[in-house]
Amino acid sequence: MNDGKLDFHSHSTVSDGSLPPAELVRRAHDAGVQTLALTDHDSTDGLADAAREAQRLGLQLINGVEISCLWERRTIHIVGLDVDPRHPALQAGLAQVQAERRTRAARIAERLGKLGVRDALARAQAMGGGQLTRTHFARLLVEDGIAKDMKQAFKRYMVQGKLGYVAAQWPPMASAIEWIHAAGGQAVLAHPMRYPLSGAWRERLFSAYAGFGGDAAEISTASGDASERDLVARLCISHGLMGSAGSDFHSPDQHWITLGRLAPLPAGIVPVWSCFEGVATAAH
Ligand code: AMP
Ligand code: MN
Ligand code: MN
Ligand code: MN
Repeated sequence: MNDGKLDFHSHSTVSDGSLPPAELVRRAHDAGVQTLALTDHDSTDGLADAAREAQRLGLQLINGVEISCLWERRTIHIVGLDVDPRHPALQAGLAQVQAERRTRAARIAERLGKLGVRDALARAQAMGGGQLTRTHFARLLVEDGIAKDMKQAFKRYMVQGKLGYVAAQWPPMASAIEWIHAAGGQAVLAHPMRYPLSGAWRERLFSAYAGFGGDAAEISTASGDASERDLVARLCISHGLMGSAGSDFHSPDQHWITLGRLAPLPAGIVPVWSCFEGVATAAH
């Protein structure tokens, strides 16, 4: 099956997804996705495997990455699309973020030890060998019966103010955008409605992001409704940004998220994929 769906945000075991890159690509293909971006947290290590499988299946893979960064002391995610994964400036930047992830993971593991989670660091590392995220530790809390599901694990232990939460010193948002541009890619502000921001602060975020040279923002996501899409579309138009669409798929266990199942962009929005060679802009 292949009916030309597009999806510009997804994860594999290279970060906190549960499918290895090639399996993710197979699943996307089975779901009718024609163009897929693999956007693991702070790593491009899955792209080569994904590209091999994509070529075999005739699916178009867009090289992507989702970079963790800070703006006004808040964590913001910037997706880089159509990047050259070999670019030294991008890899040097990602190496910094990866080092921060390692340091933070060791501190999280130590804290979870106090809750009775044994060998948390080694067990998290054994899950797939990619970047260590809070998701890995949340899985351990469920595995050990300390939380009943992922939602509870995050809420009780892994969010700000809880025992397993360690604030990370991510790079500034402007740096993430710079690395993506250096590598020839387009910067996309990920899931703008998921940050706990008031309307005034969201406006400020868009303003700062556009000022730093950001190219686009995610308008179509797996969870947002039409009124949220319209709100983000208005912000994009007023700040001269293009729009993107991505499911942020992590795992088949999230049965409410399907790869490529995304609303079309609202009228008047320039799709970020109009910048990529060979992506049909009419298909969406
Ligand atoms: P990190 O970048 O290591 O802080 O981990 C962030 C990741 O944790 C996100 O990309 C999500 O995949 C996941 N996450 C964050 N909050 C929640 C939540 N409340 N429930 C489930 N997963 C979450
Ligand atoms: Mn994630
Ligand atoms: Mn994200
Ligand atoms: Mn994501």
